[in-house]
Formats: sequence, C-alpha cells, structure tokens
Amino acid sequence: MFRRTFVASPLAVTATLFSASALHAAPKKPGIVSLTFDDGLRSQKNALVIMQQLGLVGTLFVIADPNTPTTPESSPSSDPTILRVQRFSWSDIIEFHNAGWEVGAHSVHHEKLTNLSDRELCWELDDCRHIITRNTGIVPQAFASPDGAYDDRTLVEIQKRFRSHFGVWGAGPLTKADLLCNPNRIDPYEVCRLGVTGKIPPVRDLFGFIDKAMATGYWLNLVYHNILPPDQILADDNLSVRVDVFKETALYLSSLQRGKAIRVMTVTGAQDQIYVDYPWSPVARALATKRPPI
Ligand SMILES: [Zn+2]
Repeated sequence: MFRRTFVASPLAVTATLFSASALHAAPKKPGIVSLTFDDGLRSQKNALVIMQQLGLVGTLFVIADPNTPTTPESSPSSDPTILRVQRFSWSDIIEFHNAGWEVGAHSVHHEKLTNLSDRELCWELDDCRHIITRNTGIVPQAFASPDGAYDDRTLVEIQKRFRSHFGVWGAGPLTKADLLCNPNRIDPYEVCRLGVTGKIPPVRDLFGFIDKAMATGYWLNLVYHNILPPDQILADDNLSVRVDVFKETALYLSSLQRGKAIRVMTVTGAQDQIYVDYPWSPVARALATKRPPI
C-alpha cells in the first residue's frame, strides 16, 4: 500500500510556507502520552480506578454492538458466556466519560475493514457512531481500526466521519518509525499506537518509549486490552496486562506529569493541545477545523 499523503488546507499550506523552518524544528513543548483501551472490556475498569486516583485520563475505543463477542485478540476465553460478561454496558461507558475519559469508536462488529465491501465499510463506520451516540449521548471523534487493518480505501471513508484514526505498530502499514509522532508533522489519520501486552514490551522497554517522548517532545500512544489481576490471566494469554504492572506504568506517568515533564491526555485532547502548541503545523490546523457532522 502506498502511504497516504496528508492534504492540508490552502490556508495551512500558506502558513507552512512562512514557517518551513518551524516544521523541521524540534518540538519545544513537553511530550504527550495517550493511554487507549480497545474493545470495551469490563476489566478496563481496573485502569479507570488506578488512573482516577492519579488524576490521569484515557481513551476508550468501543465496539458499538454489545452482542459482538470480544475478539480472540482481547479475550483469553472462547466461552460465549464469559465473553459477554467481559463487555461494558452503556452505563459503564458513561461512567468513564463522566470521569473525563474520551469515548472513541472501534466499529460495530470488529471486522477487518479491509475485507469489507464499500457498502459494509460505510455501514460499520456510520452505525458505530450512531449507536454510541444514541446510547450515551457522546459523539465519538476518534476511530481505531479493528486489528489495526486499514488501507487507502478505508481511510478515505474514515476521514469523512472522524477527526482522527489510530492504528497499531505491527499490524497494517504502520512501522516502528511511526511510533513516536512528531507534533510538527503528524498525520491525524495514521496515528500509530504501541500495543502493550503482558509480555511485549517489557515494562522497562515501555518506560524507554515514555522517556523518549519526554526527551523529544513527541506524542506516544499506547493501546491496552484486558487489565487483570494475575490470578485471572491464563497461561496462554499473552495480551492481558497485570493490574500491578499497569499501576507501575500509571505511577510513572503520574510522577512525570506532576513534574511537568510529560502530559497525559486523551487522544482528541492531545490533538487540540498540539494545535495550541504548534499552530503553524498544517495538520494541527486541519484538526482544529475538522469536526464530523452530528
Ligand atoms: Zn479491537
């Protein structure tokens, strides 16, 4: 797949011409870290409790159909009863929202969008927005592709409906080089996330990525699935993260935020902040004006 080129508005291009040197300058503001949580899993309430105590907020990417079973990627069990119990209710999602979290969309059925027909693709994108809004009153601004699978065709349709789009390093077209986003040049429709699992990366490596965001002023996005006590993680479950390990990361981020060395923000909050910090950035300018129709 050819990497999509972000097309800035004429106004933003003019701004770019006047500030080309600024675009290539190193970011001057503190780096940003966004913690995202996919699939609407009940165990993510463990993250809510920890983050609330530390004054941190995150972003949920919710599957809109409550009857869609969780995917193998996010569940250690194939038992349909357990799968249903593991999913959020709409009131759970409102609870996160009331705690300052962002609610983004993650399709209706968690199908790989790249496998869908044009009609099915538009239906997944339109309906996930409408279902979430109808049940919570929240209009999702950000979208994460299921399994990180996207291409030029799906991005065109996502761009019509959402302010931003998130993939995952290691799935789809995104590479390690995309992981830390330079706020001067970020494409809001190909934001890369680092998948945090029980084993990859080890916590010290994760702290290394956070330190890099701090040193460079870049934006780092993390994605989690289940956050579980150790005794609830099955031996072959490589995806779930232990509650104590998650807490260690949250404590580290909290201490950095208190020292004003890093900012922990929701994904849309981060983009709004990038616009404030780097108003010459064509992407940030486009972000500030791009709102999906309600
Ligand atoms: Zn997912």
